[in-house]
Amino acid sequence: MTRILLRNCSYILARPDEPVRPGGSILIEDGLIAEVGEASGKDDIVVDCEGGLAMPALVNMHTHAAMTLFRGYSEDKPLMEWLFDIWSVEAKLKPWHVRAGTLVAGIEMALSGISTAMDMYFHTAEAARALEDVGIRGYLAIGLFDFMREDETERQLKIAEEHVRTIRNAGFELAKPALGPHAIYTCSRSLLEGVKELSERYNLLVHMHLAETTESQRKSLELYGMREAEILNEIGLLSTRSSFAHGVYLSEREIGLLAGAGSTIVHNPVSNMKLATGGISPLRSLIDAGVNVTLGTDGPGSGNRLDVFEAAKLAALAQRHLLRNAAALRVSEVLRMATTNGYRALGLKGGVLEPGYVADVLVVDLKAPNMWPPRPERLPSNLVYSASPSNVKTLVVNGRLVVDEGRILTVDVEKVYEGFERAVMDLFSEHVE
Ligand SMILES: [Zn+2]
Repeated sequence: MTRILLRNCSYILARPDEPVRPGGSILIEDGLIAEVGEASGKDDIVVDCEGGLAMPALVNMHTHAAMTLFRGYSEDKPLMEWLFDIWSVEAKLKPWHVRAGTLVAGIEMALSGISTAMDMYFHTAEAARALEDVGIRGYLAIGLFDFMREDETERQLKIAEEHVRTIRNAGFELAKPALGPHAIYTCSRSLLEGVKELSERYNLLVHMHLAETTESQRKSLELYGMREAEILNEIGLLSTRSSFAHGVYLSEREIGLLAGAGSTIVHNPVSNMKLATGGISPLRSLIDAGVNVTLGTDGPGSGNRLDVFEAAKLAALAQRHLLRNAAALRVSEVLRMATTNGYRALGLKGGVLEPGYVADVLVVDLKAPNMWPPRPERLPSNLVYSASPSNVKTLVVNGRLVVDEGRILTVDVEKVYEGFERAVMDLFSEHVE
C-alpha cells in the first residue's frame, strides 16, 4: 500500500483535548498512522503542509446523503408537512438517482474535511458505491419503516438482510452496512424487535431518529405508555452499537438509560432549528451523564449544507444560549464531538493522530484570513468558531489522499454534476416548485 508523508505541518492537534503541538510530519502506511513528529523517509506521496494544521478528520454521524437532490426543495414548512412533500418524490427514486445525489454529497463532505458519514437512506448499494468512489467511509444504514402495518414488517426485515449481504459481498473497502429503523412513529414494535435480532446476528450498527420532536414523544407514550428511549431500552435496542439522531426531548431517566447502555446521541442543530422543532438537545446533561455525543448535518433537504464545522459552532452557541452560560461547552468537548466521539460510535480506532490509529487526517489552511492569527493557543477555538469548509486544504481517508490543495482527486466533478442534473430533471420536471 502507498506511503504518504504529510510533511512540514505548521501545527498538529493530535487529540481534541490536548494542546496544539508545533510543527512536524505525519507518516501514513497501510491505512494507519505510522509516525508523528520527525517522520521522514522514502515515500510514494509527499504532501507539503506548510501553513496548515493537521487534525483528526471530521465525522458526520447523521445524514441522508442523496437528499442533495432535494436541497432547496420544500422550504419554510414544519417537519411533518416537509416530510410528506419529500416522501411524494422519494417514492419515485431509482438507484441511479441515489447514486447521482450521493456522489455530490460525498464530494461536498470530502471537501469539507469529513472522512466518514453515517448515511440513512435506501438503494444503499448505489449510495455505498458513490461514497466508495469518492473515497470516504460510508456507514449505510438502510432506512426501514412499516408504518405499523403487520404485512409490511417481514418485507422490511428481508430488505434489511438483503442490504447487509449486498454491501458485504460487494468487495467495498470502506462502505459498511448498518440498520436504520426510521423512528418510533414509523416502525412497529415487531419491526424494531426484528432489527435488534438482525443487529446481533450480523453484528451491525443501528442508527435511528429519536426524540426529535414533542410529537414523537407523544406518539411513543400513546403507543407504548413509555417514552422513546424507554421503549427502545425494553426492546433491547440501546447498546454501544446504537446511535440516535437528535435526542432533543429526553427525560432525565432516558438520558440515564442512554448513558448506561453506552449509546451515542447525534446532535443536528441546523436541521432542528430549520425545521423549527423547538427546544435544544441537552448536550451538557448528556455529556455529564456519560453519553457519547457526536454531530450530524442531517440530510441536505433539511440541513442544506453538509458541514460539520457549522454544526460544531451552532452546537456550542445553542448550548450556551440555552443554559445562559458562556462556558456551557468547552472547545475541546466540541472538537471531540466533531471527531473522536464519532469514530468511537462506529467502533473505529480513529480520531487521534498517533501511531496505530486509522489515517483519517484533515489539514486546515491557517493562511486564510478567518483563521488568523494562527497562534497555537488560539487554534482550537478558531477551529470551532471560525473555521469553515473553505479552509480544508488536504484530506486523507484510510491512508488515501482524497483532497489536496482544496481539490478532489478521486472523481471527475464535471461528470458527477452532469449525472446529478439528469437526475434532478427526471425527478422534478413535472413538479411545480
Ligand atoms: Zn434525519
